[in-house]
Amino acid sequence: MSESLLVVNCGSSSLKLAIYSRNAERQAQVLAERLGTSEASANVEYRGQRETIRLPEKANHEQALSAVIKHLETCEILTGKPIAVGHRVVHGGEAFKTATIVDEEVIDAIDRCSELAPLHNPVNLTGIKAMQSLYPQTPQVAVFDTAFHQTLPDHAYLYALPRRCYQDWGIRRYGFHGTSHAYILRALAERLDKPRSSVSLISAHLGNGCSVTAIEGGESKDTSMGLTPLEGLVMGTRSGDVDPGLFDFLQRKGLSQDSISRMLNQDSGLLGLSGKTNDMRSLVEAAESGNQAAKEAIDVFCFRLARYIGAMMASLTHLDGLVFTGGIGENSRRVRAQTVGHLRLLGFSVDDNANENHGKDNGGRINAEGDYGIYVIPTDEEGMIATETLESVDVQAGTGED
Ligand code: ADP
Repeated sequence: MSESLLVVNCGSSSLKLAIYSRNAERQAQVLAERLGTSEASANVEYRGQRETIRLPEKANHEQALSAVIKHLETCEILTGKPIAVGHRVVHGGEAFKTATIVDEEVIDAIDRCSELAPLHNPVNLTGIKAMQSLYPQTPQVAVFDTAFHQTLPDHAYLYALPRRCYQDWGIRRYGFHGTSHAYILRALAERLDKPRSSVSLISAHLGNGCSVTAIEGGESKDTSMGLTPLEGLVMGTRSGDVDPGLFDFLQRKGLSQDSISRMLNQDSGLLGLSGKTNDMRSLVEAAESGNQAAKEAIDVFCFRLARYIGAMMASLTHLDGLVFTGGIGENSRRVRAQTVGHLRLLGFSVDDNANENHGKDNGGRINAEGDYGIYVIPTDEEGMIATETLESVDVQAGTGED
């Protein structure tokens, strides 16, 4: 019998698939891109080797998944049926508080959450259904970006809107990147050799999307993203917080609802401010060569982040660590130093040498002992999906810890 586990992450025009061993170690990964176009292709990485495979012309997610699986089986990278398949699902609304084994009811509930995540949930469901038809006997597990934040207290998830907005339409703060924040909790608890339930931290996930979360007692207590992943921090192309009065103002200027939505989601953030790119590495290079707009984009990004870190302190009774993660958090010395520079009054400071090498000589720690810990910890969302999938399957089989 096979001892492998698959993790599937379907994005709007891409798909990621990874193969894990029974103890959640990654064996192979595949990234398929430009799905739906004549250039659809997939890159496979296995034991340090890389190869590109062509996919059927205009392959959709289902066709791409089936072509990729066939290739992995032919090359014997995947042998036998997997023990389970874990799927990233963006929005679980209030229906899902943990990773959940998929059945018809779960599929219906994910479908009902599609109005909250129209770009993601339908395509996530396509991945689930495709894997169900390839492996009808294998448990499929849905791992939700929102689940970890289902512990938010009312005061953190309610908007100050008329009650009916929440009661009739489910308008509330849900939070996202839960898989990454949950992974960071586990990783910091391990680093500090403490039980998860006693670790108190602020996790700053800074990638193309960015969010910050306060975690205490093993639970999310507050987070910067809300009803949608647009709220909160400055991101690659998303504005984060704006005055809601902006919508009226822009409509009066003649912009349609669609163009306002596109502006806030795709043309704002680092890209909008710099007028050049959403890529932090390029912005840092440009700022260092004197580009003023690039410098301002970084300044706004770091200041907003620092404000949110300060705000997260309101949810905690103590603090073991502020953790930077995601492509920017793990790699940008400048963003970390500049952000922490705004937080001196709260007792944060970085050690320049430790920050310079991303805390690598010191288990990720980038400041002196004695102060609040500040850490750089690489996230692993797919590894976390694999872990949660195995835990769900083991609990169902009665072999895991409940
Ligand atoms: P995604 O959310 O798509 O997974 P990532 O977590 O990979 O994104 O993060 C992408 C961001 O990380 C980009 O803005 C990229 O420029 C930034 N990044 C990666 N390496 C560096 C680096 N060395 N310095 C600054 N930013 C970096």
